[in-house]
Amino acid sequence: MNVRFWGTRGSIATPGPGTNHFGGNTSCVQVTTERGDLLILDCGTGAHRLAAELMSQPKRPIHANILLGHTHWDHIQGFPFFTPAFIKGNSAAIYGPEGSRASLHDVLAGQMEFTYFPVELNQLPAAITYHELTEGAHTIDGVRVATQFLNHPAMTVGYRIEADGVAVVYLTDHEPFSDVLWRAGAEPGLVDSILHEGDRRHARFMAGADLVIHDAQYTPEEYGPKKTWGHGTYEYVVRIAGAAGVRRVALTHHDPSHNDDDVADIESRARTLALECGQGLDVFCAYEGCEIALAPRDDFAPRVVNQGVQPAVAQRRFHVLVVDDQADAMTMIVRALEDEHYTVSQATSGAAALVAIGREMPDLVVLDYKMKNIDGLAVTKTLRAHSRTQSLPVLMLTAMTDEPSTRAGFEAGVTDYVTKPFSIPQLTARVRACLARTPS
Ligand SMILES: [Zn+2]
Ligand SMILES: [Zn+2]
Repeated sequence: MNVRFWGTRGSIATPGPGTNHFGGNTSCVQVTTERGDLLILDCGTGAHRLAAELMSQPKRPIHANILLGHTHWDHIQGFPFFTPAFIKGNSAAIYGPEGSRASLHDVLAGQMEFTYFPVELNQLPAAITYHELTEGAHTIDGVRVATQFLNHPAMTVGYRIEADGVAVVYLTDHEPFSDVLWRAGAEPGLVDSILHEGDRRHARFMAGADLVIHDAQYTPEEYGPKKTWGHGTYEYVVRIAGAAGVRRVALTHHDPSHNDDDVADIESRARTLALECGQGLDVFCAYEGCEIALAPRDDFAPRVVNQGVQPAVAQRRFHVLVVDDQADAMTMIVRALEDEHYTVSQATSGAAALVAIGREMPDLVVLDYKMKNIDGLAVTKTLRAHSRTQSLPVLMLTAMTDEPSTRAGFEAGVTDYVTKPFSIPQLTARVRACLARTPS
């Protein structure tokens, strides 16, 4: 399998003398299998030069599988300049997560309306198909591809691609689920020692990969004020990839305010940390033009197993119960969830929540941790003690980001633990991920 980086910048294209080495184009990675399957991971501005490269090769017709992690600008802006789509006979299959406000087709068509671009999406001569993905295993051409939701203020999926006896995992845009990675008292550096279920799931998704391409937009010093923006640090990536037994990591989605020296500094700090961790992880910062040939491994064990995929959330009806004793928080959350077309009911105390659940079983409980009398933790424990509500998904909202509180939440049986302050798009993405995982 061959991997080539065409865009490594996050958020906005940043050309200029300061970014010559690592590159200024936004996210785009080309994956080519031995039998010639073409997978394009994200379609940021880097896709322009990739398109020119494809057009210069004799292979016709061109069939491209475009796998979008999400549809933020920096991941789709190259698509209107993807020249193979302008030629009849070529084809493109576009994949992306379901659950944006509009369909994948409509989102891509939006940035090609005449106001913004001279050619509309439906005028493109190539045959284009659209595939909205939920979590699970998929087959794209001959390639096994798994998807898993990331932590970003938009529905975003990571991709695990297995072919030719190797695994490549693409994980951007993403930020840590928890400030604290390891559970207190547990041995650091092991997947089982990870505190937050979301981070543990993330580690398992990349486990044993030959190459992980991961968001590392910020230094640890920069991250604090940019929390909830949906990006992380090299420190998180090195620690979690090391624990997951990953062989090599390419840090990417470089911050537009970072010049080549800044990114080189991140690379050297990441390498020092990887050495300290002692797990044999090879880490580098991805740069435009970087090409990696991955040779098949004798001991390769596929992990993308067909467990079937859930129907799209949009095709199902969900009832969400919101439990909060703060009126303003309740109003904000209820409005956001109603905008997502869920049936939403409310309870203003732990006791009222238990009564409401007894009367009508919701599909998900969004539960405030700190409430008078019966708090969120007590509600969760009560639910877990009864067979009828044992597996009812509970998403806990809390201002408590410390390790003991997070651990107490998961030990009580919460499904997800979302810390304040959170943004509405972040919350709705986490709610949707919880609902998508409920059995249909
Ligand atoms: Zn991005
Ligand atoms: Zn994004």
